[in-house]
Parts: sequence; structure tokens; C-alpha cells
Amino acid sequence: MIAEEFIEANQKYAANFTPPKLNRRNIAVVTCMDPRVQPYEQLGLKIGEGGIIRNASGSAEEAIHSLVVIQHVFKVTQIAVVHHTDCGATKFTTEWLRDKVKAANPGRDDVVKTIDGMDWHNFTDVEESVKRDLKYLAENPLVVKGTKVTGWIYDVDTGKISQVGDVVV
Ligand SMILES: [Zn+2]
Repeated sequence: MIAEEFIEANQKYAANFTPPKLNRRNIAVVTCMDPRVQPYEQLGLKIGEGGIIRNASGSAEEAIHSLVVIQHVFKVTQIAVVHHTDCGATKFTTEWLRDKVKAANPGRDDVVKTIDGMDWHNFTDVEESVKRDLKYLAENPLVVKGTKVTGWIYDVDTGKISQVGDVVV
């Protein structure tokens, strides 16, 4: 059971624990929930630094609630959008997922209504998806004026990142 694994692993982790210094740093990273993406290591952040917002594909649109918090509560003015190669978001479409959820909930109008209002921002071209998110953030009135947004692709085969754009909101 995963719960037992957690307890065992956490006992080891906590045995030699030193609380990290909270060093917020002026950066929010929006990235995918894919387990091959480990933004702290891959971007040189330490525990206690920065704000990492993760979801399926690393969608900036889905991350906007958290970005409003990090910008207005913690005064962060730099956002990095990091998408990655071989992302699961390239392997299905929003329509396909909606149909799947509807099929699993026959006769449920509430499910249909809710799922039809959701979008997974799927993509086939990772560079295009990063650029789409840069544009989304640049045009979103909730993003603080003067925010510097950078766009990146993380390559799961090489471990390297490459920058694909930047914009000042
Ligand atoms: Zn992904």
C-alpha cells in the first residue's frame, strides 16, 4: 500500500531533518505533473525557494488561481512556464476525455454540464503550447503589469531545458 510506503519513507526523511530556510525568491514556475519533471533539481532551486505550480501539461490557464496568489500575496513578478517533451497532454484530446467521463457517468446531466466547461489545453507541438501560454499570460488582466514571463521546454530524454520565448506583461 502506498500509505505504508509513505510512512516508512517519511520516517527516514524526518530522522535527520533540518527545517529549510524559507527563501521565497521572486519566481513562480508553472509546469507539468509528469513525474519525470523535477523542477527543483532541474532548475537549480532549493527546498524553501520559489513557488512551483503543477498540473496536467503545465497549463498557465489552469495555474492562474495560484499565480494570482503568488503575485498578490507574495509579490512575485517573474513567471516561468516549463512544458516538456513526450507530455501526456499530447496523447489525448479534450473531446476524447470529455466523452470518456460522460461514458463513465451515464444519465448524469450535472457531469455533462461540468465536463463540457473544462478544457485540458492539449497540444501536439510543445513549442506552440509554451507560446500559447505566454500569450495567455500576456493578455490576462489578472497578471501584474511588468511581470516578466519566460517560456521553456524541458527535454525528458536529455535533461536539458531550452528557452522558447519571453514577454514582459
Ligand atoms: Zn506533461
